[in-house]
Amino acid sequence: MDRIRALRARLHACPELSGHETRTLDTLEAFLRENTTLTVERRPEGLLATHWEGDGLPILGFRADVDAIPVEGDPARARHGCGHDGHSTILCALAVRLEGKRVGKNLRLIFQPAEETGEGARRILDTWPEMAALHRIYGLHNIPGYPRGTVLARRGCFARASQGFIADVQGRPAHAAYPDQGANPAAVLCEAVLRLPRFIEDILQGDDRVLMATVIGLRLGGENFGLAAAEGRLCLTLRGDRQVDIEALAQRLRDFIDRGCAELTMTAAYHSRDVFPDTTNTPGAVDEALARWSAARLPVRLLPEPMSWSEDFGHYLKAMPGTFFGIGIGESHPGLHTADYCFDDAIIEAAAEAFWTLI
Ligand SMILES: [Zn+2]
Ligand SMILES: [Zn+2]
Repeated sequence: MDRIRALRARLHACPELSGHETRTLDTLEAFLRENTTLTVERRPEGLLATHWEGDGLPILGFRADVDAIPVEGDPARARHGCGHDGHSTILCALAVRLEGKRVGKNLRLIFQPAEETGEGARRILDTWPEMAALHRIYGLHNIPGYPRGTVLARRGCFARASQGFIADVQGRPAHAAYPDQGANPAAVLCEAVLRLPRFIEDILQGDDRVLMATVIGLRLGGENFGLAAAEGRLCLTLRGDRQVDIEALAQRLRDFIDRGCAELTMTAAYHSRDVFPDTTNTPGAVDEALARWSAARLPVRLLPEPMSWSEDFGHYLKAMPGTFFGIGIGESHPGLHTADYCFDDAIIEAAAEAFWTLI
């Protein structure tokens, strides 16, 4: 545990933004080479540590994210405000615990960069041939607001899908005295915002699953009072229990804005940012995990609602069976991404135990 805690301190001291986790992966690689006999492979997409007992045995994957988040107000700097330094340490604690044991299974420990931008899991799935052979994949997140070390499980959706939606409308400028000679995007973008509740109702058709749209920004024209607005940008965060609902909502918005643009011969361009799928657990895999945790008498709580934040682990769960779960980090622990948040080493053993029980 001293070596494990020292590792966490080293990771905490070198937070790196998504896609720039070089020193972090160096540190993890060095730790695994010094403290375990796992086969360690450094790749452009992350770090893979393998425990292989023989062909034909089931292969389980365990994934930890390694990236940090931007400092509020200083986005070029990073800090570990989501506890990924803790997550990667937990996976190393599992590796150490595994040392010298035979478990009747093959294991892949996956250290994944770029979770916060929703890109890392996709990249690994697209490039690592080993991923297609996994029988199960497991991942966890520390969660403030729950008792320390409690396993937080959920059947179905664990964390919601989300996506940044951007619409850029290009109209034509006109003197403010002759607005009819130009094309002003104000009406179509404002109307799109006002229609959001109706679009959402149409998609959900009375079902009680969650779908929401948050206005992040709406910019139109400038401050020259002689000039009618000729361009506008609408930014929304779409969030929901299902990624397909989010896609349907984005399509509604595009159709509506395109129609409004056609009337005034304006053009619209669309972009999406930070696309996260829903992290939905595989039914059989959750029940199996619950049975194992209960047999090992670990404290488990079933969550009534999915987490409203998103997790790129959902990409793995769309490709293979598995379970994502939470580990409570204390009822009064500061929230994830808040200025006061810092991972607490006190949950490392309980979290590694929750993984170990799944093996
Ligand atoms: Zn985060
Ligand atoms: Zn996180």
